[in-house]
Amino acid sequence: MNSYPESLTELVDQLKKLPGVGRKTAARLAFHMVRMPDGEAGKLAEAILEVKKRLSLCSFCQNLTEKDPCSICRDPHREVYQLCVVEYPADASSIENSGAFHGRYFVLHGNLAPMQGQGPESLRLERLKELVVSQQISEVIIATNPTVEGNATALLISRILEPLGVQLSRPACGLPVGADLEYMDPVTIRKSLDGRGPL
Ligand SMILES: [Zn+2]
Repeated sequence: MNSYPESLTELVDQLKKLPGVGRKTAARLAFHMVRMPDGEAGKLAEAILEVKKRLSLCSFCQNLTEKDPCSICRDPHREVYQLCVVEYPADASSIENSGAFHGRYFVLHGNLAPMQGQGPESLRLERLKELVVSQQISEVIIATNPTVEGNATALLISRILEPLGVQLSRPACGLPVGADLEYMDPVTIRKSLDGRGPL
């Protein structure tokens, strides 16, 4: 690695920080970028800066948006009494693409993973509780992933919301254990939401 020019080493080091990118892939991507026409490389750098500049969190659902509240929370045709809790923005878009849900979302931006240093305080659960009360939500679908962390997160959320007398459900049938909502096909998601059971 030390044999690379300084600027190339820096680019490889930055790319290595991306999820799923190891040293080899980082080097391959960096060499690809070196060969890119100036215009293309500029567009890539600009896209990263733009997304950082323009995206913020919706003050209601905490999803990523360019306009607060986001388009889903602003939509008067959504069921206002239903809230679907998901781990990541990508999970909300998978459910959205399935067309099975017409309420609003709450994005945790993570799950309960104490081993990775993610405790309950990182999940904005106070905000969730506040919303359920202030928006008079009557049903919360806890659609965290069917993984160990996702199930632990669902359990914690149900404990927090139970005293509020809100109906709690979890997409049950169809979701394979350990699966990631983000990569699930719309039909499976629709079936599992339709067949959701009480917690
Ligand atoms: Zn929103």
